[in-house]
Amino acid sequence: MSGGIKAGLVGLGKIARDQHLPAMEKVEGIKLAAVASRNAQAEGVNNYPGLDAMLAGEPDLDAVILCQPPQVRYEAARQALLAGKHVFLEKPPGATVSEVEALIALAERQGVTLYASWHSRYAAAVAHAGQWLATRTIRHISIQWREDVRHWHPGQPWIWEAGGFGVFDPGINALSILTEIVSDPLALLSAKLEVPANKQAPIGAELRMATASGASVDAVFDWRQTGPQTWDIAVETDDGQLLLSEGGNMLRLDGEVQVQAPDEEYPSMYRRFVTLVANHAIDADVAPLRLVADAFLCGEHCPTTAFED
Ligand code: NAP
Repeated sequence: MSGGIKAGLVGLGKIARDQHLPAMEKVEGIKLAAVASRNAQAEGVNNYPGLDAMLAGEPDLDAVILCQPPQVRYEAARQALLAGKHVFLEKPPGATVSEVEALIALAERQGVTLYASWHSRYAAAVAHAGQWLATRTIRHISIQWREDVRHWHPGQPWIWEAGGFGVFDPGINALSILTEIVSDPLALLSAKLEVPANKQAPIGAELRMATASGASVDAVFDWRQTGPQTWDIAVETDDGQLLLSEGGNMLRLDGEVQVQAPDEEYPSMYRRFVTLVANHAIDADVAPLRLVADAFLCGEHCPTTAFED
């Protein structure tokens, strides 16, 4: 790998074009060599109709980046790991917890990297928030993750299908930040899931959680918010209040802005991936996915009116 990691990407859709391609251009130590897509072609690389053809046509690929929806990622990840490739998974790392655990075991057996990426953990203010909380006692956490699904997810039928997560697709980003900045284990206590009559996945959810030390944590995820969008996590402690907003890119402590910076999440994740691959290391935290799975396990189903997207 003297010229850096030679990577192949699968699923040339919104996130691949918006973030993965520009991030790989920007980061040293990794180069996109090939793309596997059923419908699209990328410029300046070799294009294949699917992962089989890409693996056969590019025997010296080091890594495979999987950017498809979660429902189809497990088989692709298995195939890439069995071919001895390092694997970078978009979030959520699987449609189920057991899939991800199987992939971790397979990556261990193969001696290759498995990276379950959580982009929101790399938002500009998240690390600072975690450091500030580490020396304080948390009393209560309130999460408000409200956005307009028609704006952010047009033409994505998979997101409303089983295994597509519905409003937990953005909501799991909040949970990835929560599980990063709170060192105490979190228990999911109860949930309410609002599922439109014509969909398989929720459009709204309310979660009640608690830290092992007893602090209460409430979360509201809603896909029906038009106008200004809200991605906030507010924390009350024994020594001040913290507000993470803009999806983790802005931090206020007792009302005073401490950090406000543009989003550099994907380049940071690729730097992390380059380091992991150099060490054949695994980074695959299932904590956010486990909370979502628990919400689906115990959640009260509240049918709501059909939603046309
Ligand atoms: P997308 O554009 O709807 O789909 C990505 C690509 O996956 C499609 O272009 C298609 O690629 C392939 N694909 C779609 N449906 C498929 C199916 N049924 N079987 C096989 N391949 C299929 O979705 P996206 O927004 O990029 O999201 C993909 C993943 O990234 C999701 O897990 C999402 O949570 C995550 N993500 C998205 C965003 C965002 O802002 N959109 C942000 C962060 C993370 P080909 O046509 O090339 O085969």
